[in-house]
Amino acid sequence: MNKKSTQDYIALENEYNAHNYKPLDVVLARGEGVWVWDVEGRKYMDCLSAYSAVNQGHCHPRIVQAMVDQARKLALTSRAFRNDQLPLFAKELCELVGYEMMLPMNSGAEAVETALKATRKWGYEVKGVADGQAEIIACTGNFHGRTITIITFSPEEQYREGFGPFTPGFKLIPYGDAGALERAITPNTAGFIFEPVQGEGGVIVPQAGYLQRVRQLCDEHNVLMIADEIQSGLGRTGKLLACDHENVRPDVVTLGKALSGGMYPVSAVVASKEVLGVFNPGDHGSTFGGNPLACIVAREALQVIQDEKLCERAAEMGDYLLSRLQAVDSPHVKLVRGKGLFVGIVLKYEAGGARRFCEALQERGVLAKETHEHVIRLAPPLVITQEELDWAIEQVSDVLMMD
Ligand SMILES: *Cc1c(COP(=O)(O)O)cnc(C)c1O
Repeated sequence: MNKKSTQDYIALENEYNAHNYKPLDVVLARGEGVWVWDVEGRKYMDCLSAYSAVNQGHCHPRIVQAMVDQARKLALTSRAFRNDQLPLFAKELCELVGYEMMLPMNSGAEAVETALKATRKWGYEVKGVADGQAEIIACTGNFHGRTITIITFSPEEQYREGFGPFTPGFKLIPYGDAGALERAITPNTAGFIFEPVQGEGGVIVPQAGYLQRVRQLCDEHNVLMIADEIQSGLGRTGKLLACDHENVRPDVVTLGKALSGGMYPVSAVVASKEVLGVFNPGDHGSTFGGNPLACIVAREALQVIQDEKLCERAAEMGDYLLSRLQAVDSPHVKLVRGKGLFVGIVLKYEAGGARRFCEALQERGVLAKETHEHVIRLAPPLVITQEELDWAIEQVSDVLMMD
């Protein structure tokens, strides 16, 4: 059998896989730490980290080991029976992030859906909103996933077009604008869902004080503050949760992505007993949610974040990356922003879009993906060394100097 080339794989994928993505033309076959290799044996630095799912680096040996050992023992029981991993995962996650209860799911979108369901039910049962009237407020520029309910409040026309009718009960307000939140809250408002740093929106960091103001408003009006930390959480921004930067504790937090170190889809909602206590047996569930394989992978992924001090690393390396990039004198760059190892290079309109810069980076062995049209997002695995980062900065600086 002839070995398949990059073009062969692309042709097969284009033929048999729905065209719901437009990936760079690189076909990856192996990964280790911050590095990935394509089918032709070319090596690249991964500066996207699967949208922060591989914060711990590709194929982290400890997570792989935990997964393989568990896969030999027991992978799935369904939640109709109990397993010996879920209780330990639940305890360790709650203790780590400082919440009373958790509810495990698989994808990030499912965690968001779970948070929305909990919020609505809390609105009716605890806050006393009249039946069917609960409202949830979300922000422009958000990304919370792809289900029909979630795209109901997506600001991206393309995410919604052709998929209606939508779910009622959601309102959009400008991101980073606490005054708009105050004006949008009504007696029927059950929750406010937001990202403490918007990832897909282009690595948008709100003004200092925003999270604290949101906390105050939610307290004043008895509204649940729901932080979607699926991308910003678990070390990416230099703290365990991005909300920790303002010492703010949301009522509900959604986690995913790096919760499994990229090894397996694992997501969760953490909150108080008052909130997650609204679920009774049969109200909500998932065949794979909380399965032993997922739980052991997540337990090890969380342990790696702590043992390797990945939050501190992200803070230190992130500050360095941001300052080095801000010093690049490129005619194409409008500004460089970010927090921790979560950095967006915002290009000027005349630069002709971020994609051509990402393609040029690919040729130099750096994989990055544009977000929106004009932002190059850089988010390497948090295990990156200074030497590796210096090399990446050199490639990015050179590319930003092209015509
Ligand atoms: C990626 C992401 C999601 C959705 O996660 P999936 O696993 O793709 O369903 C939700 N919220 C945020 C902030 C994300 O970045």
